[in-house]
Amino acid sequence: MAGDALSQDPAELRKRIDTTKAHPARVYDVFLGGKDNYPVDREAAGAALAANPRGYLDVRHNRDFMRRAVTTLAEDEGIHQFLDIGTGLPTAENVHQIAQRIVPDSRVVYVDNDPVVLAHARALLTSGPEGATDYVDADFKAPERILEAAAKTLDFDRPIALCLVAILHFVEDDEAYPVVRELVEALPAGSRLVLSHLTEDLNPAKIRAVQETYTKRGFTFVLRSRDEVARFFEQSGLVVDEPGVVPAHHWRFSGGAPVPPVVEPHVLAGMDDIEKVRYRDINDVTDEDINVYAAVGRKR
Ligand code: SAH
Repeated sequence: MAGDALSQDPAELRKRIDTTKAHPARVYDVFLGGKDNYPVDREAAGAALAANPRGYLDVRHNRDFMRRAVTTLAEDEGIHQFLDIGTGLPTAENVHQIAQRIVPDSRVVYVDNDPVVLAHARALLTSGPEGATDYVDADFKAPERILEAAAKTLDFDRPIALCLVAILHFVEDDEAYPVVRELVEALPAGSRLVLSHLTEDLNPAKIRAVQETYTKRGFTFVLRSRDEVARFFEQSGLVVDEPGVVPAHHWRFSGGAPVPPVVEPHVLAGMDDIEKVRYRDINDVTDEDINVYAAVGRKR
C-alpha cells in the first residue's frame, strides 16, 4: 500500500530537511553504517564515539533486540500486526521484512516525524503481496492522528505489537507517559508493547559523556531508570514478559551474527564519506558497553 505521506511535493520536503544540525535518525543511521546522513550527523556520531568508543554497541544491540522481539512475536506468539513509531531510516532489516519472512501476511505501519525518514520511506513500502505496509509522517505526540492513520492498514480487533524502540528518550515525561497510555488503550487484548530506552543506570559515566556531546549539538536524551521504564508497562496494567526490563543484550540474546559495518571513531572524524567502515561482531559485548533497557509486555 502506498502511503499518503509519500505524495508530498519533493521541493516542499527538501525545505523541511535541516542539514545544519544533527538529527537523531541520521546519527543512528551513521552507527548502523548507513548512507542517509549528512556531515553534521557524522560529526555528531564521531563526537559521541570519542566520548564512548564502544557506544555503537548500544545501537547495534538495540536494533538486534528489535529483530529478536519481532521474530519471537511473529514466530511463537501469533502477532501479525505491528505499529512501529520512531521507525528510523530504512535499513537492511526493517520490521516488515523480519515479520513477513515468518508470516507473509504481516501488516506493518511505520511512523516517524523526521522528513529525511519520509524522503526514504519508499524503501519501507516494499511489502510482500500477502501483507501490507504503510508509512505515516506524524509525531509521536499526536496519538489520535497516528491511530486514525494506522487503522487504514491494521485491524484494531486483532492483537497489534506497538513498537517504541529507542524513541521515548526523546520525549519528556509530561507527554511520554500519557501518550503511551493512550496508544496502549486503543489496542485490543493480547496486544504487545515492544520498548527499548536509554538509561544511566548501567554505565552512568559513559552515557553522561555521550549525552553531553548531543546536548551541545541541540538534542537531548531523557535518560530513564529501570523503574521509570517499567512504569510505561505498569501504568496500563501490562504484564512484562520474561526476562523483564533488562539491558538490551540480556533480552533473549543467544549470540548474534556478524553485523553490518560499524564506523570507527578515528575514521569518522572529519570524514565526508561513509565508505571506510569495518565489520564487528555483536557477540563482543560486556555489561560495561550497554546503556539500553529492553522489554516486551502484553495487554491482558
Ligand atoms: N526504532 C528504530 C530507530 C530509532 S532512532 C530503531 O530502534 O532501530 C529514533 C527515531 O525516533 C528517529 O527516527 C527519530 O526521527 C524518531 N523520533 C524521535 N522523536 C520523535 C517524535 N516525537 N515523533 C516521531 N518520531 C520521533
